[in-house]
Amino acid sequence: MAFEELKKRLEQNGYKVSVFSTGAEAADYLADSVKGVSVGLGGSMTLKEMGVEERLQANNTVFWHWNSCADPAESLRQAMTTDVYLLSANAIAEDTGEILNIDGTGNRVASSLFGHKKVYFVAGRNKVSPDYESALWRLRNVVAPKNAQRLGRNTPCAVNGDKCYDCNSPERICNALVVFYKKIRSMDAEVILVDEDLGY
Ligand code: SF4
Repeated sequence: MAFEELKKRLEQNGYKVSVFSTGAEAADYLADSVKGVSVGLGGSMTLKEMGVEERLQANNTVFWHWNSCADPAESLRQAMTTDVYLLSANAIAEDTGEILNIDGTGNRVASSLFGHKKVYFVAGRNKVSPDYESALWRLRNVVAPKNAQRLGRNTPCAVNGDKCYDCNSPERICNALVVFYKKIRSMDAEVILVDEDLGY
């Protein structure tokens, strides 16, 4: 079974863990599991590729600042207080089950820490790194530069497209790092692992 050892580690860390072969299957599961509640989504290429917003909108009130019809600032605020929050994991350390997320604005990591009844972390296989050091390297040198490029930021990583320069740019997108050693006490949390590459 894919993710067998990682699933065990994450369960030891207090999470419910669900494993799927494809993003489509994971989206079906989320659509079946999340109904009749308010839902906030963090900025996530993984969720976007899976079509999670469209699937959840059928039975829930969904707030996502990436929705082209939404007022981004208002959606960010409303997403902070929803029943359920979904985000991706930027990296997961396979040997410990530590989940790492890096953020520039702070809404996504803040919502992963407090304020909801349940949080779902969604991660494709490309988010799994052997250990903490390689997971952190991935955040700084893969995730952040690709996001900076996507957002058109004037940062050296976006301009050169190769690595993190630990810049002092006003447009820097990696301002905070959150590491979940274990599940946060105040909320239910489930990790959705997908045996496909999703997001970056
Ligand atoms: S610190 Fe600056 S250079 Fe490094 S990844 Fe973040 S935005 Fe890019």
